[in-house]
Amino acid sequence: MQENGSSNYSFMAPTRIIRSKRKTLSLTINENAELVIRAPLRLPIKKIQDFINEKESWINRKQAIIENQIKDAASNQNKLMYLGSSFPININQSAAKGLIFTGEEFIANSIEPIPLSLSIKKWYKKKFREIAIPKVTYFARQHNLMVNEVRIKNQKTMWGSCSSKNNINLNYLLLMAPMKVIDYVIIHELVHTIHRNHSLDFWSSVESIMPDYKEHKLWLKTNGYKLRRV
Ligand SMILES: [Zn+2]
Repeated sequence: MQENGSSNYSFMAPTRIIRSKRKTLSLTINENAELVIRAPLRLPIKKIQDFINEKESWINRKQAIIENQIKDAASNQNKLMYLGSSFPININQSAAKGLIFTGEEFIANSIEPIPLSLSIKKWYKKKFREIAIPKVTYFARQHNLMVNEVRIKNQKTMWGSCSSKNNINLNYLLLMAPMKVIDYVIIHELVHTIHRNHSLDFWSSVESIMPDYKEHKLWLKTNGYKLRRV
């Protein structure tokens, strides 16, 4: 990323430039906190550097956030989140197969990463089903909302969705979030059965069911990355 050896962007993590037939320039910070630039095939390097200079404070801010998330993930490697709190995972080879939660810790009988992550997924999915389905029924009844089917999924980029047939999909990784945050996502999707968009009417319906929904929406925005580690 140098022109005539004169440029020095010491604030940046390693940069990648991906050239393609696109028309515009874009900057993203990837999950390793690296700056990735997508540029048109023949755009002069000078133009790219100017653009980076212009966006320097945004890049710094974004990289600092991702770097913190990476550190945070590393220090929580042997922990699992459940309803907003972190619990240690301990390995006990003589324990029963799968994952057990005692209320204070998780016990797994395998240390191998793949079987362990499978048991974790299985546990989250099962537990989320037990917790979320009754909540959907509860809020739907209480507010006269019609829901067809509820499906538990692991959608990488979405916490929940509601189809035109009023089928609601929920991401079981939400089990890591506090109960109120799970409620918020459920209420959000239930309100989509009457408002198909995010209009003012939609948000005021959400608010009438959950007056403090903004707090839980913000929690998800700030902490959502923590729920994606399984
Ligand atoms: Zn929505």
